[in-house]
Amino acid sequence: MDKIKEKLENIKSKGLYRNFKYLQSCQKSRVTIDGSEILLLGSNNYLGLSDNLLLKEASKNAIDKYGLGAGGSRLTTGTYDLNKKLEEKIASFKNTESALTFSTGYMANAGVISSLCDRKWVIFSDKLNHASIIDGCTLSGAKLVRYKHCHMDDLRNKIEIHKGEYNLIVTDGVFSMDGDLAPLDEIASIGKEHNILTMVDDAHGLGVLGKNGSGTPSHFNVSSEIDIHVGTLSKAIPSIGGYVAGKKHIIDYIKNSARSFIFSTGLPPVNLATALESIDIVKNSDEKRKHLLNLVSWFKENLIQLGFQVPNTCTPIIPIIIGDPNICTKFSEYLLEEGIYVNAIRPPTVPKNTSRLRISLMATHTYEDLEYVIDKLKYYGNKLNII
Ligand code: PMP
Repeated sequence: MDKIKEKLENIKSKGLYRNFKYLQSCQKSRVTIDGSEILLLGSNNYLGLSDNLLLKEASKNAIDKYGLGAGGSRLTTGTYDLNKKLEEKIASFKNTESALTFSTGYMANAGVISSLCDRKWVIFSDKLNHASIIDGCTLSGAKLVRYKHCHMDDLRNKIEIHKGEYNLIVTDGVFSMDGDLAPLDEIASIGKEHNILTMVDDAHGLGVLGKNGSGTPSHFNVSSEIDIHVGTLSKAIPSIGGYVAGKKHIIDYIKNSARSFIFSTGLPPVNLATALESIDIVKNSDEKRKHLLNLVSWFKENLIQLGFQVPNTCTPIIPIIIGDPNICTKFSEYLLEEGIYVNAIRPPTVPKNTSRLRISLMATHTYEDLEYVIDKLKYYGNKLNII
């Protein structure tokens, strides 16, 4: 017991303690927290669909028809006709032969990697890949070789040194804490050249980038060259769940071997129905995407002009690097007092000394919203000696 208290105190003393903020309203560009209306700048609800009337209607209808809960794991009683429709729709959206849904994106990454790879495998993984990818690699027992972030020469060197008989290159499409893109065109061609399977987790690219919002591989025009597409149904698609899409035999194998798929309850029909209905709406959201990406470049430009350190992002994820976790937390507290909710992201989510305000924009934000934000960022950035 004392050891655990000690560990907790250690987290607190380093400024790394985390706590909840309780939202009392729908996740829109403005939310209610502690009874006050706050401008939300930290949501993954990129297209602002969580309040979409058609989707809410589809969800209510699904509850009326199917009731609540899934009632079983997928290979027992937890598979619905909605699973089939959704998996076919995802496969068609991602332009693959087949797809399979998981209960979360985390479980998709963990299950896919640990079922495909074992001790005989070598996995080449970007240093900034999401935790669920890293956990999948660890679970698999494969040799994990991490290459420098988006550094293709380093990847090539590591392939020369460590390549084995069975290999996988795995990367985020959009990096969740930096907002930058993996060079999927180069990764696809390295995979082809060395006969290595390629896997992309596009949790943050789906709905935002590529043709009809179909994601980062499409943005690079290499959708058909990526072997395994993983993603989530909980960001631009306002539901919950994860998916894997690819060749039929790969998906069939995962269905029969991924432990996070087999030993967990399936998605409730209401969430399947929401996700199913969302895909058509996402495809038809070019105007929203255009507005969102225009906001991104305008906002980012303003931050750079003010002197903030902003990585090379072209997505709605716009981090402002602060460094010190305590200053970062203070900054986000000041902003909250001004009615702006931005997450302070600290280690272990990001590397040491790179604590950051992770701003994420939504298609429902306006230039006026962001002018207010820029004004406050400038004021507190000066006050905290960040700029
Ligand atoms: N991959 C990435 C890159 C993510 O950012 C996340 C969630 N933050 C996940 C996977 C996990 O998805 P889910 O939230 O559906 O478990």
